[in-house]
Amino acid sequence: MSRDDMIQYDILGRGISNPLVIGAMYEVPREKFIENSQKKHAFDDNPLPIGHGQTISQPYIVALMTELCSPDPEDIALEIGTGSGYQTAVLALLTKHVYSVERIFELHQDAEKKLSSMNIKNVTLYHRDGYDGVPEAAPFDIIMITSAPVEVPESLFSQLKNGGRLVAPIGSLVQELILYKKENGKISSETICHVQFVPMIKGIINN
Ligand code: SAH
Repeated sequence: MSRDDMIQYDILGRGISNPLVIGAMYEVPREKFIENSQKKHAFDDNPLPIGHGQTISQPYIVALMTELCSPDPEDIALEIGTGSGYQTAVLALLTKHVYSVERIFELHQDAEKKLSSMNIKNVTLYHRDGYDGVPEAAPFDIIMITSAPVEVPESLFSQLKNGGRLVAPIGSLVQELILYKKENGKISSETICHVQFVPMIKGIINN
């Protein structure tokens, strides 16, 4: 699979329609976020290992979650689970600033190096527990959780702006991708599809 194939079959072919999201999926070099041993699979339609038992999500799911967030160039976004930094880079192209939190120090550090080597400046990365969010930068227009909690932590709902969108995989063995919206302080939700993510785990790891 090439980058063109990925766009043709997994992004357009599976119904992603927001031209800005399609453009960002084309522009961000996914192969740069993939370990050397996995590079030949960079554009395949499945998650890939990134070390520490974690995975970079499959291209379609990255595009779908991005589209569900309805990104706007003026939006401030929070991502929970930086991982490889790929989703961070896609969101950074489509919003004003992305704050992203990762609990595993080495993944946090690698993502920071990668994004700065690609000259992506509108991101701030933290080695923190995502269950706390980033209260000092809140409220956010977009919150994207890229690991699965059993329910959305209250702290994250409280850091969502009125008019904001939060997308997250929810569950443990069986998970559903859910889009939440906040209007006048009230949260509504819409279930999108079944998904399979690594679990959202409390606490940080220092290596
Ligand atoms: N968005 C990433 C997906 C990485 S997988 C990418 O594009 O590559 C999910 C990530 O969430 C893992 O790196 C995992 O360590 C992280 N994670 C899990 N629980 C977390 C928590 N409580 N706080 C911050 N990050 C967490």
